[in-house]
Amino acid sequence: STAEWQAADAAHFLHPFTDFQALARKGSRVIAKADNLYLWDSEGHKLFDAMSGLWCVNVGYGQKSLVDAAARQMLELPFYNAFFQTTTPPAVELAELLAEVAPPGFQHVFFSGSGSEGNDTVVRMVRRYWELQGQPGRDVIISRWNAYHGSTMAGASLGGMKYMHAQGGLPIPGITHIDQPYWIEHGRGMDRADFGKLAASWLEQKILEVGPDKVAAFIGEPIQGAGGVIVPPETYWPEIQRICDQYGILLVSDEVICGFGRTGQWFGCQTVGSRPDLITFAKGVTSGYVPLGGVLVGERVAKALIEQGGEFEHGYTYSGHPVACAVALANIKLIREQGLVEHVRDDVGPYLAAKFEALRDHPLIGDTQTCGLMGAMLLAKAKTSAAGGPELFDPALEVGMVCRSHCFANGLVMRAVGDRMIIAPPLVITRAQVDELMGLIHRCLDLTVAELRT
Ligand code: PLP
Repeated sequence: STAEWQAADAAHFLHPFTDFQALARKGSRVIAKADNLYLWDSEGHKLFDAMSGLWCVNVGYGQKSLVDAAARQMLELPFYNAFFQTTTPPAVELAELLAEVAPPGFQHVFFSGSGSEGNDTVVRMVRRYWELQGQPGRDVIISRWNAYHGSTMAGASLGGMKYMHAQGGLPIPGITHIDQPYWIEHGRGMDRADFGKLAASWLEQKILEVGPDKVAAFIGEPIQGAGGVIVPPETYWPEIQRICDQYGILLVSDEVICGFGRTGQWFGCQTVGSRPDLITFAKGVTSGYVPLGGVLVGERVAKALIEQGGEFEHGYTYSGHPVACAVALANIKLIREQGLVEHVRDDVGPYLAAKFEALRDHPLIGDTQTCGLMGAMLLAKAKTSAAGGPELFDPALEVGMVCRSHCFANGLVMRAVGDRMIIAPPLVITRAQVDELMGLIHRCLDLTVAELRT
């Protein structure tokens, strides 16, 4: 029963990113099954999953071809590793298919089990690259505040979540941060295009401060996801690219969220127009059906590793796990067959963007942003302020959490990052389901307004 699961859950399961005492007081919501975009809890309540689980279930729940691929592979060969010059058919076929769907110049992949491990791999790989160039001192990686790059020591250090750094002595040495390109926080009153260039110039400032001969790489998500779906001004990424080119530093695109169609292209770097050297991926590669991640390795780094490198002393038991790779193959084939990337780019993405723009008329909404099937709405006290842009709520009111609890109580899974309410629904969403989602969002916003008035 639900009560029994909740009791056992509180007694034994240390959940990630969860307040244990709150969980003990209230109990977890037990999610018992799912289909398409919908979840059902153990009490039979239906929920619209506007977050694709944790940004991962790109093809939606219940896709039989992924399940069949896993079952077939488990019977054929449930595990074999990729160490010591062995390989497996699904891993090879996936590596080949990834080279086909990746941006031009990405012919190689290093597999991991998750996005965090992918970013750990990035840290070692970029430092290895510079060692091979005879510049072992070139080991500093620049990242951004408010970024999320995972929970391993390197992933959490690359991340710019200060509440994570506060636990466990992070960041590890050789990682430093610049501010994010968030106009509301850093650019109010400025022209947005000018602000994009200003925010990119902070990278150059940091490179000069650290010393150009010490900087190995810059890492960023094309669109910051867990940071609150921060869509940078169009001027930002071209300027970041120019700076990376000028100083010869490697550009890493963390596409754990943005990859596999989320932004309306196969990879987010194609949407924002950057040319990374490395691309981290996970989540959408298998639509979350089984864990898999990795790093797509561009020509510059691959050439050095292969031609000069000897052995790269790095790898995971599950690098190229055959079952995960078989599911990824089925997932990518489905995305292709159903034309889901084009569906996001040409149909539901623009449709959602228009709906979000119209949401700005709602009294609680101060700003909205979308890119493909990522969307954010900022809950604000007033639409304008003396500082420029909307007037924000006092953070102590936790208006985002108020709204989120109305969502949860009314059958909608939407996430709150401060006062930014964010969505990332499965790519299979239809226009009719976007309408259904907007209806739910309106209802929850109205309930939030009503609660704030009392
Ligand atoms: N990078 C980004 C941008 C992410 O959003 C996440 C997870 O949300 C990660 C890395 C870490 O991935 P994982 O949770 O698979 O380790």
